[in-house]
Amino acid sequence: MSVRPVTQISQAQPTLEGAGVKLHRAFGFHDPSLVDPFLLFDDFRNDRPEDFLRGFPWHPHRGIETITYVLSGSVEHGDSLGNTGALGAGDVQWMTAGSGIMHQEMPKGDTFGRMHGFQLWANLPSNLKMTDPRYQDVKSGEIPVVIDDDGTRVRVICGEFWGKTGPVDGVAASPRYLDVFVPAGVKKILPVDTYQKAFAYIFEGSGSFRDASEPFGVLLEKEAAGEEILIRDQTGNRSLVLFGTGEEVTVQAGDKGIRFLLVSGTPIEEPVAWHGPIVMNTQEELRQAMRDLNAGTFIRKSA
Ligand code: FE
Repeated sequence: MSVRPVTQISQAQPTLEGAGVKLHRAFGFHDPSLVDPFLLFDDFRNDRPEDFLRGFPWHPHRGIETITYVLSGSVEHGDSLGNTGALGAGDVQWMTAGSGIMHQEMPKGDTFGRMHGFQLWANLPSNLKMTDPRYQDVKSGEIPVVIDDDGTRVRVICGEFWGKTGPVDGVAASPRYLDVFVPAGVKKILPVDTYQKAFAYIFEGSGSFRDASEPFGVLLEKEAAGEEILIRDQTGNRSLVLFGTGEEVTVQAGDKGIRFLLVSGTPIEEPVAWHGPIVMNTQEELRQAMRDLNAGTFIRKSA
């Protein structure tokens, strides 16, 4: 089995979004081939209600899927398909915008005023960009949890892992979305589909995703000899780790354990024309979306 090398480690950056929400963006509005089929990843964890209560009032999406995973607090939402409700701790909302949806997403803190959650955008291939919008609301209790003998705990939100299949289905990029906890000091090897691009996002504890077949001392020697080696590999809170190709990733948990999302998906490899929450293949399709918005014909399918 080949271990995926770590190709990049970066920190999520403070970003202002929606009607004035302070969040951290791990990637987005970058070269879309970097983590194709994924376009954007936001961490909206925040302890100050004044930083997130203004939320994300009514706005359009077209051509993508948005995946919201709440860990604490809640997100009240409504959309042009007629869905309304609140996502609570552990819940997931998987929204296929397709031809067009209008929605709003309003975070509310928990009893301590804290909000914790993530939003990922996955691209749709050209033949599905104008598909009917679809909405999947998954309650925390529906998400299978696999626990290994060494205490490693994995929530399988989408895709298949260790014999369990997540409840979210029918998603274009056949992504796998896992919430992984590895206890202190444990080294774990996690399989990842060879043909998928993968990233990890660390949000608790710390650890290393380096290929453990290369002892740290050897890496230091190689670096001293002038080789370009990624040795600052201790990842912690709000770190994004990108991987090269291979069949598995390794993680060595630090002294407090490590918790991260491990997300992978099949690259779409198509041109991307991007205007905020609307992501198409060509500039003309973007112009059409703007014309539709101005003419009131953006929503093709509603409640
Ligand atoms: Fe949105």
